Amino acid sequence: MLNIITQAEEAQGLRGEIRAGGTDLHDRYRAGVSSGAIVDIHKLVGLDQIEQAADGTTTIGALVSIDTVGNHAITAGNYSGLAKAANGLATPQIRWAASFGGSLLQRTRCAYYRHPDLSCTKKGDEVCGGRDGNHTNGVIFDKGGCSHHHPSTLGGSLLAYDARIKTSQRDITVAELYGDGSEHSRDHLLANGEVLTHVILPPPVAGEKTAYFRSISRFEAEWPIVECTVRLAVADGLITAAGVGVGGVSQIPLKLSNVETLLVGQAATQETLERAAAAAAEGANPLPGAVWKVEMLVGTLLTTFEMALAD
Ligand SMILES: Cc1cc2nc3c(=O)[nH]c(=O)nc-3n(C[C@H](O)[C@H](O)[C@H](O)COP(=O)(O)OP(=O)(O)OC[C@H]3O[C@@H](n4cnc5c(N)ncnc54)[C@H](O)[C@@H]3O)c2cc1C
Ligand code: SF4
Repeated sequence: MLNIITQAEEAQGLRGEIRAGGTDLHDRYRAGVSSGAIVDIHKLVGLDQIEQAADGTTTIGALVSIDTVGNHAITAGNYSGLAKAANGLATPQIRWAASFGGSLLQRTRCAYYRHPDLSCTKKGDEVCGGRDGNHTNGVIFDKGGCSHHHPSTLGGSLLAYDARIKTSQRDITVAELYGDGSEHSRDHLLANGEVLTHVILPPPVAGEKTAYFRSISRFEAEWPIVECTVRLAVADGLITAAGVGVGGVSQIPLKLSNVETLLVGQAATQETLERAAAAAAEGANPLPGAVWKVEMLVGTLLTTFEMALAD
């Protein structure tokens, strides 16, 4: 571990944007919306392992590929909601090349941000093209400022697992990694040069039922409109624990604690699932063009609950 941190700190001393798998970074450099020196960490030693301690706590290195997160015996066997989400995103080629850390820290996919000639406050322009222009796939839990939703599928999944993040400088929760959405120019709150080294998952829950489901405009190679990762522990017909993380709806991935509360202690029935899914719309303040996504969130969540119970 000391060796890993030392290397990460060395990387931190260098100036430039960190590159892991490069699938997001190179896209931006090619498009001309990002530029400058690159600090390549993809060969840092010790960040490409998944390990489980005797108490079940699991540590995933930041350079483990998304494909490995989806198919490794430890993650697929013990954290199936996370594994299903990993296997459900992007394309096989991206999942092989992209790192777990990079998937959490990728920049926004807003079309205004990704186009060199379009205006975006995240790029330092005065006008947010998304808020004033086409935002049909914008946020429905609006935190102000930047109006596009966070791109990370696995960020939402990790919220459902109450995972922690280890960096070259500190140990934080996933919620702390993303903040409250008020830092409009940022997609995460790591400092310049701070290296995400590991994701820490709490011990698995035996027999838990899980599902990941996304509402999407085409079968693959596309970011979802709304996506959910759900974990349900059920004993004697009662839901005893629940974890619900969603994406596509806000400037940050969200953990739906109000929905989790409505599930726990209730009978695992269709009525319970429908009541909890409906509660997901509470507090929604969608952009005018994105109102349609509120109903989609409720429907997507209900489908994910049903899939989890059938798991
Ligand atoms: C067609 C297509 C569909 C996609 N669909 C989805 C989807 O549905 N859901 C989804 O979540 N993603 C999706 N993606 C995005 C893909 O998951 C990301 O491009 C990928 O996960 C980024 O990982 P990377 O290792 O290549 O990161 P890089 O491109 O290397 O880096 C991404 C960012 O993270 C920073 N970074 C990377 N690793 C570290 C680290 N360890 N510490 C500090 N900073 C770091 C980099 O500086 C950079 O800013 C899709 C991509 C494509 C091309
Ligand atoms: S929504 Fe965000 S990323 Fe898109 S143009 Fe506005 S500030 Fe830029």
